[in-house]
Amino acid sequence: MSAQPSERNAPQPIGHYINGEYRNISSASVPSFNPASGTITGAVALATAAEVDLAVQAAQAAFPDWSQTPPLKRARVMFRFKELIERDLDQLAAVITREHGKVLSDAKGELVRGLEVVEYACGIPELLKGDYTEQIANGLDAWTMRQPLGVCAGITPFNFPAMVPMWMFPMAIACGNTFVLKPSERDPSVSLMLAGLLKEAGLPDGVFNVVQGDKVAVDALLDHPEVRAISFVGSTPIAQYIYARGTVSGKRVQALGGAKNHMIVMPDANIEKAADALIGAGYGAAGERCMAISVAVAVGDATADALVEKLAPMVRALRIGDGMGDKVEMGPVITAQHRDKITGYIDDGVAAGASLVVDGRGHRVAGCEQGFFLGGSLFDRVTPAMRIYQEEIFGPVLCVVRAPDFATALKLTDEHPYGNGTAIFTRDGHVAREFAHRVQVGMIGINVPIPVPMAFHSFGGWKKSLMGDHHAHGPEAVRFYTRQKAVTQRWLSSEGSQGAEFAMPTH
Ligand code: NAD
Repeated sequence: MSAQPSERNAPQPIGHYINGEYRNISSASVPSFNPASGTITGAVALATAAEVDLAVQAAQAAFPDWSQTPPLKRARVMFRFKELIERDLDQLAAVITREHGKVLSDAKGELVRGLEVVEYACGIPELLKGDYTEQIANGLDAWTMRQPLGVCAGITPFNFPAMVPMWMFPMAIACGNTFVLKPSERDPSVSLMLAGLLKEAGLPDGVFNVVQGDKVAVDALLDHPEVRAISFVGSTPIAQYIYARGTVSGKRVQALGGAKNHMIVMPDANIEKAADALIGAGYGAAGERCMAISVAVAVGDATADALVEKLAPMVRALRIGDGMGDKVEMGPVITAQHRDKITGYIDDGVAAGASLVVDGRGHRVAGCEQGFFLGGSLFDRVTPAMRIYQEEIFGPVLCVVRAPDFATALKLTDEHPYGNGTAIFTRDGHVAREFAHRVQVGMIGINVPIPVPMAFHSFGGWKKSLMGDHHAHGPEAVRFYTRQKAVTQRWLSSEGSQGAEFAMPTH
């Protein structure tokens, strides 16, 4: 059994959590880093298929009792879990910052957004109520009920190590399922801490399990016959793979992918407020958010000129450093490889003829020379033919595209293969309404740069940003993590036989 991850000071093994116990059973591991210092902080276990099977078996064994536990009792565990997260918020956030690099206030923010899903899950007795129709036909009543699926699995990305798993497991568990989480191998510790808090909240052993690992562990979950449903969040190529392989083996799959979110700035927008919004949405968490704005579509040259003039000094002035530091606005990116990949995109944009207004390449932070830092970069005059426009960079790089009018800006947004989120900044209600109505994107912000739906609505993109039918959390999660049963009932009178019926009953 390993120590609680929060108690680690030196690089330590980061293992699994199976059947209520921390376990280090894997022989292979990969290093995890503190991206601000560049130092190795942990050795993350890589589960084999047999080790994944142990977790699935534990979840399978826990399912009969947990699924029979009344929803109100399941909700009470969630109420206690919520209080424990609030109690340990600072500690949890510090672990996120140390492994992910995002600033501490942002780490707390993601925990609070995850906590909101726990709060929604506390209402599970109400959410699981079915429909009932009395006298649906003569002497017949009908009703529906929603029942849990069994063992569900979650496979999550590095960029929200607490919030994205919390989009999944609180709802899955509250619905009566058991769960196996495979977190990102880059920042796996907070999920182990959450597992400990669930146990403290009274969750029976085996209901929630964590396996660390890479493709081997993911494939084992995808192929495991006892796993009934897979929730995935990550990049689009992997989402497509997960969707294809999971559905082939008969599982329910929701696979949320990457993004290239556009924000349209109309000529009537308040440029100062639009610039403020773009700085937060483009450079917050070093651009490593699936709802980050990576493309600003300025309508009209005058709008573009004014916007770039406002943005450039703000990008240069970003306070970049260790996310634990006071007043730091932007931390490092996740790995040295990812930093180099982003630098490659910037090189590519320059070579393709975009105008690099602010160059974040080669940024150094005093005292953190080995950290994976980049400065903010700002491109102007980006065109749809460029790779920096077409692909998700997932770093602190904002591309300004110039469009002559609203119709062109809308067409650009629609024609982009990704469709996660988008926003429009305008004072014109008609234009805003048209945009929300027409645009081919899943989540829309009107003068809101990062329109992440709150926990009691559901989160999901369109096009290459989501494979599957259900969005995450909110009412869609209840549908995803349960299956519906419809009962039609007649109580027969004691009178004699009415004879057999051979025609389809039409009531
Ligand atoms: P990723 O796709 O590399 O990894 C996600 C998960 O898949 C991890 O747990 C990883 O271990 C696993 N994985 C990686 N390669 C695999 C393979 N070949 N086979 C099986 N499993 C594999 O994503 P990431 O780099 O951790 O996260 C960033 C990406 O996630 C970005 O593209 C971002 O847009 C996306 N994201 C999307 C949303 C959304 O809601 N749509 C939210 C957060 C992040």
